[in-house]
Amino acid sequence: MKKISVVIPIYNEKENIDELISSISSVMAENNYSYEIIAVDDGSRDGSYEQLKQIKQTNKDLKIIKFKKNYGQTQAIMAGFDASIGDMVITIDADLQNDPQDIPLLVEKIDQGYDIVSGWREKRKDNFIIRRLPSIIANKLISWFTGVNLHDYGCTLKAYKSKVIKNIRLYGQLHRFIPAVAARMGVSLLEIKVKHYPRKKGKSKYGIFRIWTVLLDLITVKFFLSYSGRPMQFFGSFGLVGMVFSFIIFIVTIYMKLMKSIDMTGNPLFYLAIFLGFIGMQCILMGLLGEINIRTYYESLNKGTYVIDEE
Ligand code: UDP
Ligand code: MG
Repeated sequence: MKKISVVIPIYNEKENIDELISSISSVMAENNYSYEIIAVDDGSRDGSYEQLKQIKQTNKDLKIIKFKKNYGQTQAIMAGFDASIGDMVITIDADLQNDPQDIPLLVEKIDQGYDIVSGWREKRKDNFIIRRLPSIIANKLISWFTGVNLHDYGCTLKAYKSKVIKNIRLYGQLHRFIPAVAARMGVSLLEIKVKHYPRKKGKSKYGIFRIWTVLLDLITVKFFLSYSGRPMQFFGSFGLVGMVFSFIIFIVTIYMKLMKSIDMTGNPLFYLAIFLGFIGMQCILMGLLGEINIRTYYESLNKGTYVIDEE
């Protein structure tokens, strides 16, 4: 029988975890799933960990991972992925804004063959100005930049086939971009509508500044998706353009000197040519360094640049 791992990132959610874990357990039991729940305590200081330990005494399917400090939601999810032994992994928020009753919907779609099934909080119950509006814009931007169209990148309620996530490493706040990265690697992706509730207990961990981090992460992701496999082509293009312009401008300054008697040393174009020449050379060298880096990266981690469907 297939095993399902449910991963929950937890940061100061003491009032929510009791209800959450019991409702996940009952949904899993009702559907006769073989499962484990991996609760990752991301350095909570409100007693969430003690609460988890207490629940574990009566719930044999619960595994607890405790972080030394608050590393962030992405790291918590990553730790859950690493510890999971299921054939399928489901991530869900700890704050009861997602509904565990939606889990079977995701499982069904994974069983039908999708590699990733992503929740779409169509009727999102969060503040419009600081949450929903920025999120609408962010989702449009991410879809446009990555070429992978989703309505709701930010929804934690997602299901993944294990083999897909075992090949993806996450840094910073990048968990929301997993579908984009994975879809670009060729895995199949489906978005389905899920329920969403207002946060009843505890506080949201993010403010309006999340917009900045998401935007910056988007640039990183775009770069990695498009060029991380071929840095020379990225930096090298700038380099070549710089060198070509440098050369043309240099010829122009020589022409001005010979034909119009305009001093080369007094001609700003001459300096522009030197400047562009240096920049161009720098970019090409950066491209080469990049090439060395990706070789070290992929080979030392023994990480594939591809996902195998069947072997
Ligand atoms: N979370 C976490 N580490 C953090 C911040 C948040 O593990 O540093 C967890 C949090 O406990 C919750 C989930 O990530 O389970 C989503 O956080 P939150 O509900 O505050 O985000 P929002 O729903 O407001 O986007
Ligand atoms: Mg929430």
